[in-house]
Amino acid sequence: MTPLLEIRALTRDYGAAGGPVFRALDSVSLNLSAGEILGVVGESGSGKSTLARLAMALDRPTSGEVLLEGESLFKLSPEMLRLRRRDFQMVFQDPYGSLDPRWRVGRVVAEPLGLLGGLSRRERAERAAAMLEQVGLSAASAEKYPHEFSGGQRQRIAIARALATTPKLLVADEAVSALDLSVQAQILRLLLNLRERFGLAILFITHNIGVVDEICDRMAVLDQGRLVEIGATRAVLAHPQAEATRRLLAAEPNLAVLGRKAHRALRGETP
Ligand code: ADP
Ligand code: MG
Repeated sequence: MTPLLEIRALTRDYGAAGGPVFRALDSVSLNLSAGEILGVVGESGSGKSTLARLAMALDRPTSGEVLLEGESLFKLSPEMLRLRRRDFQMVFQDPYGSLDPRWRVGRVVAEPLGLLGGLSRRERAERAAAMLEQVGLSAASAEKYPHEFSGGQRQRIAIARALATTPKLLVADEAVSALDLSVQAQILRLLLNLRERFGLAILFITHNIGVVDEICDRMAVLDQGRLVEIGATRAVLAHPQAEATRRLLAAEPNLAVLGRKAHRALRGETP
């Protein structure tokens, strides 16, 4: 079966032509199946956001390929790419720039629904209101402007917008990290629920190993632009192979708890 997302030998160099080159991403390959949640962890500067932007075709690689359902994103025309965006959406850590300050929130969330076609204005508004409720905001929020909300609420607006078209793939780059814990838990439940109902696959970039342990089927570790480890979350947490993975786990205050939980799971015991 064709994977939903296939990343092949993706490399991204930064630097001026003729000047020194910095390799932010170095020949990274990985696959993601429909309905799968893959955590991506790594120290700051390890290339996580570079990978996310490339996977969303928001940036172009120095070399390598990104295929969505077998189709190379970098070969699509701008118009085809725009239409294809209903199937893959991204949420950034700080979404403020992606929310047009002149638009009411209802319009912000409903806008990608235009890509689906066949929905009346009223149906789009209803779906936007329903999405806002799913991320824990009132349907009445639709009438307000982004600046009337707190940072955490704006983050939820961006998540509602990204999920409005029920995409097949969501790339979340530290998307829930800044939210307070109860809201974070609510968003994670929503993501798991969308995975159950619609087979949503998620590339979940985070520095929070606890969240990876909670919702990711597999996890990948980046170190200086290279993929140094990838495997089932429980297996990687219980038996980290790469030095970079060990470093990350050592920095995690709940490592002992996580380790015990992972070991129990590996023995087939319920936590
Ligand atoms: P992460 O998200 O893991 O913190 P990034 O993907 O943002 O890492 O960055 C990886 C490396 O690439 C960093 O060293 C960063 O400074 C560098 N980098 C990222 N974007 C650019 C850019 N536009 N120009 C030059 N260097 C960049
Ligand atoms: Mg980043």
